[in-house]
Amino acid sequence: MYDVNKVREDFPILSRKIYDKPLVYLDNGATTQKPRCVVEAMVDEYYNVNANVHRGVHFLSQKATDLHEASRETVRAFINARSVSEILFTRGTTESINLLAFTFGEAFVHEGDEVVVSVMEHHSDIVPWQMMCERKGASLRVIPMSDEGVLDIDAYRSMLNEKTRIVCCAHVSNVLGTVNPVRDIIRLAHEIDVPVLIDGAQSTPHFKVDMQDLGCDFFAFSGHKIYAPTGIGVLYGKEEWLEKLPPYQGGGEMIKNVSFEKTTYNELPYKFEAGTPDYVASHALAKALDYVSALGMDNIRDHEQELTRYAMEKLAEIDGMRLIGTAPDKDAVISFLVGDIHHLDMGTLLDRLGIAVRTGHHCAEPLMRRLGIEGTVRASFALYNTKEEVDALVAGVRRVAAMF
Ligand code: PMP
Repeated sequence: MYDVNKVREDFPILSRKIYDKPLVYLDNGATTQKPRCVVEAMVDEYYNVNANVHRGVHFLSQKATDLHEASRETVRAFINARSVSEILFTRGTTESINLLAFTFGEAFVHEGDEVVVSVMEHHSDIVPWQMMCERKGASLRVIPMSDEGVLDIDAYRSMLNEKTRIVCCAHVSNVLGTVNPVRDIIRLAHEIDVPVLIDGAQSTPHFKVDMQDLGCDFFAFSGHKIYAPTGIGVLYGKEEWLEKLPPYQGGGEMIKNVSFEKTTYNELPYKFEAGTPDYVASHALAKALDYVSALGMDNIRDHEQELTRYAMEKLAEIDGMRLIGTAPDKDAVISFLVGDIHHLDMGTLLDRLGIAVRTGHHCAEPLMRRLGIEGTVRASFALYNTKEEVDALVAGVRRVAAMF
């Protein structure tokens, strides 16, 4: 039995008040709150272990290195990658995609080539590719979607051709909650030997992801969206691809030997990890992954699916409600607008009731343009949210709607 009230005790911030009202935190798509074990792991490392990793002979440096590298193994196991060589630590999804777009572009993209993205990508899975395309004289192709927020797989199939170099797609949309058919997307790209990047920022926190099962070539996610600290994330890449990519940033750690005439590069994964890594955050990320694993990713998915279904049902009963993103396969993200109430007004007034939601374009302006809107109100759930909080949201939205 998944005991959400017991789980909530692990998150001290959830018991604080906002404007003298209980906090209802529904902005988990932007970032999640942290359980005690994650914060305590960081404090403990700074108080008892802290030393720079990898280059030290002394006790603390070796201990910090052991924790950092054990974290890489925890990440590997969590996403079922084949090898720790395939796990690159980055600052987050954004840096992971920038790393890939730059290095992949250098190695494989030429004038006239094409990069496929979907219309529902976050800016961080559009702009790095666009910047690379500009540099290389390549262009973006965009997979369209239906009004419900389902990608058009036939259109996708027809845009794959000999000029396609890579396909980049969100696993779960951060606006619509659509769980994209990434297996089909990967299979069709692989039929013509094109690699695929999956942006897992919004999937990894909500259900089990398995690299060997999915078969994608690259996968990016952020620690802070899965109960870990900010400033740490992961780029997974199949070893055979990472071996072929040039380094990203230059500096310490990513080298084998340096001379003014020629530098040789370190082996994987260090070739892509220039400079001092955030070894405290990597350790805390491992603690967060241990935490969700102990709760069970399937239990988390079931709990959040139930909240999502319940919230969709209750919100739909409100007069003037427009739910944005109604794909059959939908995860813990709900976007909506009510009548002609501006999303900012709705968000601001909900905040006065202690309810934290996000408003705006959610870093997906092309998607907003496709939908013909400027922004939405977005409620996004985490493993600690409750039905009572959904009720509070629904009551809050009704109350704001009544004011207009
Ligand atoms: N992709 C998606 C789908 C996201 O939801 C986000 C965060 N909102 C990102 C990428 C960027 O993640 P970060 O800001 O942690 O780099």
